[in-house]
Amino acid sequence: MEHLTKLRQLLQKEKIEALLVTNPVNVAYLSGFTGTAGMLLITEQDAWLLTDFRYLEQAEAQAPAFTVTDTAGDGWKQVTQLLGRAAVSSLAVEADHLTVKDFTALGAACRALTLREMESPVKVLRRIKSKAEIDAIAKAQALTDEAFAHLLKLMKAGMTETEIALEAEFFLRRRGAGGMSFAMIVASGARSALPHGVASQKKLVPGDAVVLDFGCVVDGYCSDMTRTVFVGDVSDRQRQVYDAVLAAQKNALEQLRAGLSGREGDALARDVLQELGLADYFGHGLGHGVGREIHEAPRLSPAAGDVILEPGMVVTVEPGVYFTGEFGIRIEDMVVITADGNRNLTHSPKELFCV
Ligand code: ZN
Ligand code: ZN
Repeated sequence: MEHLTKLRQLLQKEKIEALLVTNPVNVAYLSGFTGTAGMLLITEQDAWLLTDFRYLEQAEAQAPAFTVTDTAGDGWKQVTQLLGRAAVSSLAVEADHLTVKDFTALGAACRALTLREMESPVKVLRRIKSKAEIDAIAKAQALTDEAFAHLLKLMKAGMTETEIALEAEFFLRRRGAGGMSFAMIVASGARSALPHGVASQKKLVPGDAVVLDFGCVVDGYCSDMTRTVFVGDVSDRQRQVYDAVLAAQKNALEQLRAGLSGREGDALARDVLQELGLADYFGHGLGHGVGREIHEAPRLSPAAGDVILEPGMVVTVEPGVYFTGEFGIRIEDMVVITADGNRNLTHSPKELFCV
């Protein structure tokens, strides 16, 4: 309800008469409805949730602020009829979600309406999290921290990456997580240099760096963390790089605050790696927003000069250094931006662990 009120204020400001929300993540954010088929039609006066008969009961229960309407097999016709009654002449659509096919069908059904293609205004709202949203993310991260402690106890040479990922998932699901935030990254040895190395059948062998990047979903909200641990022993070079990545992260965690741009936030870590001659091996941005989706606005990256950090944003801080064919190291925490700094939601230890 709070989200719907904020959206209406934004629509008024942008002079949008009506908005059609088709992205299911935005549908859930605004209405609470989590079914896989449904869209929202929102005007200044009305808020409809259009779905089919499979979801009518669920929609009534989950979305009390919306008038639930049966699409009866033709959602576009329903949209036209509802807006005709509401005397609206233009309709904004989520250009970053609606397919060309659906856009064309909608245009054909609503000839009297002007369609406005725009990036979804709901995404703008989603950048700033409410207390309830931050609580859900913190809960998901607390479980993820517990799972990391659990993994540290059982990881050893000979286990496959997949076995580790399964252990994490069983642990989290048993404790009530709705699912994993994404397919867990367990990348060992040379695979650790793949920033997104999803768990494989590779076995851990002594000398491996192992990047563990994972999170879970609680009340529809994701967590995200990374730790890099070593199998058996660690080489001097691995230790040096680990310390460098940790120093870069620490600098960013100490200084990240509201008012900085996404580029300035990124530079807090990148400059440290630059001084140590490692910036060329840090090929991705420092972080990303986390919420209902694992990657959402805002970004912390050299390309995010126009993004300004605001209190209530939840972002990751994840510097990484990758040597192709050798090893990679990443350390990732998730923080809430506050007026004078940030609050870290990740509590897992960061000293160098050998398993
Ligand atoms: Zn991650
Ligand atoms: Zn991340």
